[in-house]
Amino acid sequence: MALQAITLSVDPAFAGDTGQSALSDAGCAFCGAPAGHWAGPGYLPCGGSVRTVAAACPLCALPQHLERPRIDEEAALAWLPEISQAALNATMREIHIAIQAVGEDVHADAVFRKRSAGLGTLYYARAVLAQRSAPAVARVGTASPRELGLALLELSSVAYARRAQLLGGLRLMPLGRFFQGEHDVYPEVVRFWRDSAATAATRLSGAL
Ligand SMILES: [Zn+2]
Repeated sequence: MALQAITLSVDPAFAGDTGQSALSDAGCAFCGAPAGHWAGPGYLPCGGSVRTVAAACPLCALPQHLERPRIDEEAALAWLPEISQAALNATMREIHIAIQAVGEDVHADAVFRKRSAGLGTLYYARAVLAQRSAPAVARVGTASPRELGLALLELSSVAYARRAQLLGGLRLMPLGRFFQGEHDVYPEVVRFWRDSAATAATRLSGAL
């Protein structure tokens, strides 16, 4: 499956509720991970009226929906020109899976409750990535995805179409939350990814 690039986008018309209920086996069109049903189709990769029906996982939906009401709790801007948004999402997913696997909360504000083997490395990796918010503030004046979304809305359609070039190495750092209404469903999302990985490993060992 050829993966599509992720461009920071805002979609004020997006209702957020895809109406899907069943878990989907579809791979995310942007990172290839199991998409689940949380973000669903209806992301806005191109802006304007262009919308596709391919699946997006929650981490890949976030940067394309800066209009989400609680986006500032879900993510922060970071300057990471050396890594694509999809690669950042894949990295953060692995960090979140590993953190949850040892019984800790995945969101960035959580304090680890116990000393587990490998947690120090995970904490360090997450902290190093989080430090890249400061260069984002230096370049665009904010680490708030919401403020960036509002700024994108002010652009002309010509400038908006060029936002990938204008924003350069600006990325959206997922903070380990994904809200549906008032409810943070991200722990459920990570559990789904863990189960999917375990199922894939079982299939692979059975095939060998
Ligand atoms: Zn994805």
